[in-house]
Amino acid sequence: MTDPKDISDAQWCEKLTPEQYHVLREAGTERAFTGQYDKHFEDGSYRCAGCGEVLFESDSKYNSGCGWPAFTRPAQSEGIEERRDTSHGMIRTEVLCNNCGGHLGHVFPDGPPDQGGLRYCINSASLDFEDKG
Ligand code: FE
Repeated sequence: MTDPKDISDAQWCEKLTPEQYHVLREAGTERAFTGQYDKHFEDGSYRCAGCGEVLFESDSKYNSGCGWPAFTRPAQSEGIEERRDTSHGMIRTEVLCNNCGGHLGHVFPDGPPDQGGLRYCINSASLDFEDKG
C-alpha cells in the first residue's frame, strides 16, 4: 500500500472533491457556518477525508459558536501534527493529519477551561463522519 505522504498532487486532485482538495492540500478554510459538521452532534468518529485515519471522536466535540467544528482534543495525540503558522499576519498553530499531511485547521487556547482549555477548530471538508451505528 502506498504511504499517504507519497500520494502525488495529481492523485489527490482526482481522489478529493474540489473543496476537500482546497482545504486538505492547499491549507484552505471553508467559509464559517457552511460546513456540514459545524452543527453536527451525532455519536461517532471523525476520520480524515484524505486518508481515513480516525482523528476526532464525538465526545470531544462541542458547540463553540465559531462556525467550524470544534473539539477539545484529538482522538489520539499521535494522530495529528501541530505546526507553527505565521501566514495571514497571525501567529497560529496549524493542525495536520499525521498520516497523510493534510491540513485540518488550527488549535487555539480558548477552549473550555474545564476540558483542557484547547479549541481544535477543524474544517468540515477535511473530515468524514462515521456513525457509531
Ligand atoms: Fe489523513
